[in-house]
Amino acid sequence: MPPLSFKDLKLNPQLLNAIEDMRYEKPTAIQQKAIPLVLNGHDLMGIAQTGTGKTAAFVLPVLMKVKYAQGSDVRALILAPTKELVLQIEEVAKQLATYTDLRILAVYGGVGPKTQIEQIENGVDIIVATPGRFMDIYLRGAIFTKHLKTLVLDEADKMMDMGFMPQIRKILEVIPVKRQNLLFSATMPERVVALSEEFLEYPERVEVAPQATTIETINQAYYEIPNIKTKINFVEHLLQTEKFTRVLIFTKTKQTADNLFKYLDRKGLGPVRVLHSNKGQNTRIHTMRLFKEGELKVLVATDVASRGIDVSDVSHVINFDVPTLYEDYVHRIGRTGRAEKLGVAITFANEAELFHIANIEKLIRKSIPQKKLPKNIKIEASTFEEKQDIARSIDHQKRKDDPTFKGAFHEKKARPGKDNKWNSKNKSKSKKRRR
Ligand code: AMP
Repeated sequence: MPPLSFKDLKLNPQLLNAIEDMRYEKPTAIQQKAIPLVLNGHDLMGIAQTGTGKTAAFVLPVLMKVKYAQGSDVRALILAPTKELVLQIEEVAKQLATYTDLRILAVYGGVGPKTQIEQIENGVDIIVATPGRFMDIYLRGAIFTKHLKTLVLDEADKMMDMGFMPQIRKILEVIPVKRQNLLFSATMPERVVALSEEFLEYPERVEVAPQATTIETINQAYYEIPNIKTKINFVEHLLQTEKFTRVLIFTKTKQTADNLFKYLDRKGLGPVRVLHSNKGQNTRIHTMRLFKEGELKVLVATDVASRGIDVSDVSHVINFDVPTLYEDYVHRIGRTGRAEKLGVAITFANEAELFHIANIEKLIRKSIPQKKLPKNIKIEASTFEEKQDIARSIDHQKRKDDPTFKGAFHEKKARPGKDNKWNSKNKSKSKKRRR
């Protein structure tokens, strides 16, 4: 039996607290498989795409191993192909290390090395770096690698595509031979296999092969909907006008699930109930029974709560948010269209979430048709916070795709009451990017 909770993975209380803050409720498949192996000291070859939780799968055991600040020399090195990915990994690592005193530093090019060198000289436990800049600073004599015990190569396939192999080879020459190595890659082309043979010692191989195709009997579509309020208007419209008999609505957070439930209940659009992990076991079982027996029209649920749901004839699945763990999309829509019955899965995406739709299409190897919102749906204005979140998230994605992208969000800060020009100007671009 694979472990089911983060506690079962034997992570320390500091990390468990941070995981709770981040609202991760349950380890993902790659985390369940990889973390125990890394904690046991194995070299690891992990095959996993973005969206599977792979970052935390290597960051958590690295944090367990490095544990607390010690001396001044780096003890774990994480290499990644782009500045943006380096910054993202650093961010996840810092969040997960909130309750430790670990010193985590991102090292990347495009800015002068002086500050990074100073920070390294002040003492550092974990460095997340692009290979070129790491080697550059090493050659200036600012990095001592004697205490380095763990090396992670993230997105190895991309690093090889980008021609980083010579730098990586040089790094391997200047770090201790006796160390633990982790290699993560989304794909396994011949070159990555060769690298893993050269670089890993008796590695354990873990792979998450998300179910790639979705059942043919599911009719899928998505709508671009700018914000939560408009999403709510559309749910209301669908429940009022369409022949929905047993609808499962998925949300990313418990808070959204609760809010949506209250709204639908107040409007008399049920019978409706809500299911998430804050609900007691008995309530959950009872709610499930009501839904199965056809006593409810609508069930609002978060992903974690829904894993075990076995209801065979859900008429409609609505993804109120696009899942960032892409496998969840497959789990979610698999609730409908079971046993040869025709099911319908409808996804609501704001401008930032369109990016995830494109990735989900890659995963399921199928395009999801876009539909237009009916004209009579009231389009609400986005709140200032929502606009900020969306702009920030689009920036994040753009920089991930193109490390030279400067980040419009930081240059043109949205102001309350003003329309965020950046958003509307880039609408067409964000559509183009998807194809
Ligand atoms: P990654 O594949 O590392 O890029 O992660 C994809 C997304 O999943 C990120 O938004 C993470 O914050 C999120 N994530 C990672 N692990 C978990 C988890 N155990 N539960 C929920 N979300 C997670």
